[in-house]
Amino acid sequence: MSTLPIRIFGDPVLNQVTTDIENIDGKVAALAESMIETMYKAPGVGLAANQIGVQKRLFVYDKGDGIPVVVVNPQIIETSGEWEYEEGCLSVPGLSWEIIRPNEVHLVGRDLDGNELDLQADEFEGRIFQHEVDHLNGFLLIDRLDDDQRRAAKRALRKMQITVTPHDHDGLHQLLGD
Ligand code: ZN
Repeated sequence: MSTLPIRIFGDPVLNQVTTDIENIDGKVAALAESMIETMYKAPGVGLAANQIGVQKRLFVYDKGDGIPVVVVNPQIIETSGEWEYEEGCLSVPGLSWEIIRPNEVHLVGRDLDGNELDLQADEFEGRIFQHEVDHLNGFLLIDRLDDDQRRAAKRALRKMQITVTPHDHDGLHQLLGD
């Protein structure tokens, strides 16, 4: 398996809602493995499938213990509290913002064996859940900024987009077998 190019702000795949994975098969496992490799190489703490151009409901993360976790078809079913944290994103490189979101998060989904996952987390891990599920729903952290932050972000991103380059899709098509 190899690493895949990470889609950058401005790429329309980042604004599209991903679809549930019906069959958790070997292809999904291979995709997850590539995503984990891509996440570690970046380096990052989480990666959603549409960040590498795959419109499927799947993310991987490592909360800092060196154990990669794969969540298929994740759904946040409950949140509570409030927590401010400086959040960044591999698809918006070099920028970060203090963002307030709920603190405690209850996430459900499936693992690569199709077993039910039921995860409750707060602070950093809870933030990863919300950030990655946002990706899968077509949102970026920029959508969570307040008005002042958003204005500053737009200026910074306009400069950044100059460096956005076309993507190489060949590796991805090989991976997906189409
Ligand atoms: Zn992100």
